[in-house]
Amino acid sequence: MRGNSFEAKVKADGGRELLRLLGVEEPAGVSVPDLSAAGPEGRVARTALALREATGAGGWTLLDHPLLALEVAGSPVYLEPDAVVVRPDGGWTVVEIKSFPTIDGSADAAKVGAAARQAAVYVLALERVAAVTEGARVAHSVLLVCPKDFSNVPTASVVDVRKQRSVTRRQLDRLTRIDEIAAALPEGVSFDVAERSPEELTASVESVPHQYAPECLAACELAFHCRARSREAGAVETLGRSVRGELGGLTTVGAVLAAARGEAGDPDDPAVAALRRARALREEALASAPARTPREDVECPC
Ligand code: SF4
Repeated sequence: MRGNSFEAKVKADGGRELLRLLGVEEPAGVSVPDLSAAGPEGRVARTALALREATGAGGWTLLDHPLLALEVAGSPVYLEPDAVVVRPDGGWTVVEIKSFPTIDGSADAAKVGAAARQAAVYVLALERVAAVTEGARVAHSVLLVCPKDFSNVPTASVVDVRKQRSVTRRQLDRLTRIDEIAAALPEGVSFDVAERSPEELTASVESVPHQYAPECLAACELAFHCRARSREAGAVETLGRSVRGELGGLTTVGAVLAAARGEAGDPDDPAVAALRRARALREEALASAPARTPREDVECPC
């Protein structure tokens, strides 16, 4: 709610407030076209038309929540920037409104970085429309609007997203197309939740490999399923990608323990040597530690 009220404040006065943040003190007139249409395809087409009309009009236009399409791995993905401003000279600028504050002129660098990556994707999507719009030019700097200090007063800064744009462009170019992934699936596998029974869906999910890591828990609905499979296999990925990276060729918890005990593993392998050293230190520490008795007055949480 706070974010919504802040966004409404930024876009107040028919878009003039936002243009003031862009450095235009008294815009003669700001056009705010209606972008509503049926379905995402309709909204994308309506946005493209509004951008074309605004580019030829020679005035200021504010597109409030336009809808853009970008092809990701061969499939369209719909993106909705907070706003896009069209300048009288045909320049298009992405506006990203965030509710994290700018304190004493600077904001949390991680949050600004995430906002810049997000805006860079919008820039890429806008470039597709600009490529077929005469006189259009997409700015590679975006306007980031945040609350100032601890107030609800908006303040804006221009963020250069050229680097994020090229990184995202390269990543998108390297993505395997969805139809190629689908072609590699075992015969008869389907993830159609409307048509298939829970048993068939479970069998389909079981039949494809996974790449579980704890990061999946924050991002994927299949995380508990993949974690259970990963634990069953004793995979070290359940402990995190960094642990996996440090363990080299030791891919299961069993192999790690065997290497630490000296039952397996090449002693010249730095990971094996580090594990044996760690085990020796642990045993040394346990041998010299005073015996401890469990406290009965404290309820054990596990
Ligand atoms: S939890 Fe999701 S992202 Fe992670 S391995 Fe499973 S399917 Fe892939």
